[in-house]
Amino acid sequence: MSRVYNFCSGPAALPEAVLKKAQAEMLDWHGAGVSVMEMSHRSTEFMSILASAKARLMRLLDISDDYEVLFVQGGASTLFAQIPANLTNGFDSACYLDTGAWSTKAIKEAKKYTKVNVVASSKEQNYTTVPAFADLELDESAAYLHVCPNETIGGLEFADLPETNLPIIADLSSTILSRKIDVSKYGMIYAGAQKNVGPAGVVICIIRKDLLARCSDSLPTVWNFANLAANDSMINTPPTFAIYLADLVFEWLEEQGGVEAIEAVNIAKAKVLYDFIDASDFYANPIDPAYRSRMNVPFTLADASLESLFLEESEAAGLRTLAGHRSVGGMRASIYNAMPMAGIEALIQFMREFENRHAQGK
Ligand SMILES: *Cc1c(COP(=O)(O)O)cnc(C)c1O
Repeated sequence: MSRVYNFCSGPAALPEAVLKKAQAEMLDWHGAGVSVMEMSHRSTEFMSILASAKARLMRLLDISDDYEVLFVQGGASTLFAQIPANLTNGFDSACYLDTGAWSTKAIKEAKKYTKVNVVASSKEQNYTTVPAFADLELDESAAYLHVCPNETIGGLEFADLPETNLPIIADLSSTILSRKIDVSKYGMIYAGAQKNVGPAGVVICIIRKDLLARCSDSLPTVWNFANLAANDSMINTPPTFAIYLADLVFEWLEEQGGVEAIEAVNIAKAKVLYDFIDASDFYANPIDPAYRSRMNVPFTLADASLESLFLEESEAAGLRTLAGHRSVGGMRASIYNAMPMAGIEALIQFMREFENRHAQGK
């Protein structure tokens, strides 16, 4: 058996230590005589896993009691609809910032539920930058402002938030737990697990409790955030194995020294890769340097006809899934928390050798 460096944008690499622990506990979880997949979600064993995952996340992100942590199903894409369905009740509109493909998808779904006010868009710049927050056309009577602070497909990330009294709702699917955030600045945070948290099947939601008052009884029962909060995310059977794996990833993160420690590693990883790309005439990254993503690093080759060869040879060199998203092409290295610095070094070494072999005559 050999494990490769996996640059997939999602489902993404998980820490090897977590996979090994899950393997060791697979047949008999802590003496229960069954795997986590086989136990009742209402058993004391699973309830302890759920409570542990919640408590660890609250510690890792320093989440106050003003917030509920929910484990929701359906992927982040379901939340694109579920959020306006729950949180625009009593309001005429919602504000959305458009910074790329995932913002656009969130906007499209929200329009099915409410009037959407796109407060700014960097579409004309091909989503290579973030609109100036000073120019945002914010309607302070809207239900909320939605942002996507890491555009996974474009490779664009921003850390600051606009100044507003609106609750800010952030899709942190590809950046949660990769950097320190101040949760108290958000009305709600949500993140599909399969980028930085665990396997697909669960979405982490952190929602300010006062917003739960907006959730209407007319919503489908399992879609209602207030119901989910009142029932400890267990109105029906939750994705138990995904929650268990998330708990193991949180535990691993605590062992690494928490979010601040992993952020330092993430900064270093992204820096060496971007520095290498910038120093080369053969590779290029199109994103405004102020907003380059630490998690998703897209790059192009000077000669696009070499792309399929690059992918073929990188795969053979044990560097998996470097193709860019089908909507943008090129390459993309997704380097979430679980990607070690050694993976970045192996990638750079491959890129250097590939350039040396193919850059002649250019
Ligand atoms: C992957 C991703 C999504 C979609 O996640 P699904 O779980 O596939 O619905 C949404 N937003 C962002 C920022 C993502 O990276």
